[in-house]
Amino acid sequence: MIIAANFKTNHTRGSTKEYIDKLNDFISPREIKDKIMVFPPFTALDNFEYNNITVGIQNAYPVKNGSYTGEIGLEQIEEFNIKTILLGHSERRHILNEPQKLIAKKFQFFAEHEFEIVYCVGEPKEIRERGFDAVVEYIYKQLENIDLNYDKLVVAYEPVWAIGTGLTAKSKDIEEVLAKLRSDIKAPLLYGGSVKTSNAEEILTIPNCNGLLIGTASWNVETFCEIIEISKKTAEENR
Ligand code: PEP
Repeated sequence: MIIAANFKTNHTRGSTKEYIDKLNDFISPREIKDKIMVFPPFTALDNFEYNNITVGIQNAYPVKNGSYTGEIGLEQIEEFNIKTILLGHSERRHILNEPQKLIAKKFQFFAEHEFEIVYCVGEPKEIRERGFDAVVEYIYKQLENIDLNYDKLVVAYEPVWAIGTGLTAKSKDIEEVLAKLRSDIKAPLLYGGSVKTSNAEEILTIPNCNGLLIGTASWNVETFCEIIEISKKTAEENR
């Protein structure tokens, strides 16, 4: 399983360091087989040298360097030995209006540089209300010009209406979407959308679910560790 924490615009440089230290203290003495990822804000990036925690970047511009005010490129990322990036997150698509063309360009650039790419897809509420076929059509448009056979790909299914709202998709609906994605994608498939300690186990046991991308519930390190523990227990129970 992959258990990933998306800080979004939360945590400072100081609190991120504290968080990652605590997370490492939690993971190190335990037999955690899951891959643990953390996506802090740009300002908190550093050379974190814990090999059981993958630190990734929430976004970047598809250039080595140049004149792109407010953006960072490969040169700034490589300084921290970061090789993992989150792309296509719904907040970038829907709040920052990032078009599929740009997302695909970022995908291509970072794939060429052999980044592990956690690529997010998910439908807004009005599409979900139209039913499964509409959801699939919407999600597959978000996969346009994305190499689904890329060997460092991870796909996160995150219904927009479930992100940061406390609403979680029904297990049956998640299962249906993941099964459809699985028919075309060999890469690990994550679910994201108001995952918390109370629903993590149920989601982790959905067929084709290979992990969780967590926003709000990951910002508190103790809660994130609790979810890692739930994943460990769930794996042991379902062995
Ligand atoms: C996310 O940011 O990807 C996410 C799923 O957020 P939340 O867990 O808060 O819904």
